[in-house]
Amino acid sequence: MSASAPAPRPNTAVLTRKGADRVRAGHPWIYRSDVTDLEADRGAVVEVRDGRGAPLGRALSSTESQITLRMLTRDATPVDRAFWRARLAAAIAVRERLALDATALRLVHGEADLLPSLIVDRYDDVLVVQTLSQGTDAHRELIVELLVELLQPRGVLLRNDPKVRTLEGLPQEVALAYGEVPAQVEVREGPVRYLVDPWHGQKTGLFLDQGENHAVAAGYARGRALDAFSYQGGFALRMAPHVDHVLALDASADAVAAIAANAARQGLGNVEAREANVFDALREFERGEERFDTIVLDPPAFAKHKGAVPKAISGYKDINLRALRLLKPGGHLITCTCSAHVDEGMFGGIIYSAATDAQIPVVVVEKRMQGRDHPVLLGVPETYYLKCFVLRRAG
Ligand code: SAH
Repeated sequence: MSASAPAPRPNTAVLTRKGADRVRAGHPWIYRSDVTDLEADRGAVVEVRDGRGAPLGRALSSTESQITLRMLTRDATPVDRAFWRARLAAAIAVRERLALDATALRLVHGEADLLPSLIVDRYDDVLVVQTLSQGTDAHRELIVELLVELLQPRGVLLRNDPKVRTLEGLPQEVALAYGEVPAQVEVREGPVRYLVDPWHGQKTGLFLDQGENHAVAAGYARGRALDAFSYQGGFALRMAPHVDHVLALDASADAVAAIAANAARQGLGNVEAREANVFDALREFERGEERFDTIVLDPPAFAKHKGAVPKAISGYKDINLRALRLLKPGGHLITCTCSAHVDEGMFGGIIYSAATDAQIPVVVVEKRMQGRDHPVLLGVPETYYLKCFVLRRAG
């Protein structure tokens, strides 16, 4: 900037033409390269304008992240206490209307609830919150206060340990924000009860995004079932009443212990939990005689960034190819990817190439995604991360 240029106004951001077009196309993330002027404190709410000075709305700002702005409004609505309260209340009301058959669910799903970089999960009477950018982190006390006002929880935990916080220059930390959060909370998903550890469990305790798919899988499950990448038995425990036997595999010893404990607590005697690397286990099964009527594949995200996509594709193909070979004719494969960088078309292609390599006719019965409490914001492909296909081995 030349010495004669007017000093930028505090808490204002000016965008390039490309940045302004992106806002108008509905994407909430504006990258540093699309911001020409920014004068703001860490995490402050800024007024966003195009190069001609026309207002585009208000955004959360970041001094560190490549995602410099996260749009909150597209008009002059002030971002004050009433604004945050209304957005949180709207997200909660959406979940109430969904009437999910569960006491554990996501109440706020960031961008898709127009609250970018904010996650709020409910585990019975406990809330687990993640403020994943400087913007939401700077407002965390207000957010917790409003959640307490709206929901009267027993406790609120800030589960701010995801690595993505380091991109914002924020520490990875877990802290009690309100009331009491026990080491174990009992929740129910459909007929299945789980003991969840909100302090240490993966994600915020459970993979809530698969809740509705657990119920769908149970509808197809029969005979001998395999739940690969089971975590605490989300699919296995739900399928158990419908099958003769279900084998749940996970690489985490803690997860396997939790599956066994959860199965025992509700008298599900046909659940076998085994600590194993799924890649190795599938290979061993192929060499042996055991075949399955129902298989679930729900691996962790193999592609955490774009560069990892080619390797991820070969990983997904490997497990899907082997699973198809292990499936009895007429059996179902429920297969998932939670890599945002592997889109639905790519995932379909991977499955097709696995089926042709295996020379097995495969029918697509359902195409599903993350549960409805984790909605997708149209125009923001990053929010459509979980793809879940139900396939039948036709012959
Ligand atoms: N299906 C679960 C969620 C699975 S998350 C549910 O619906 O709740 C992915 C799981 O895969 C994690 O529990 C992780 O411990 C496990 N995992 C990661 N790599 C693995 C591997 N190579 N073999 C077995 N399990 C693995």
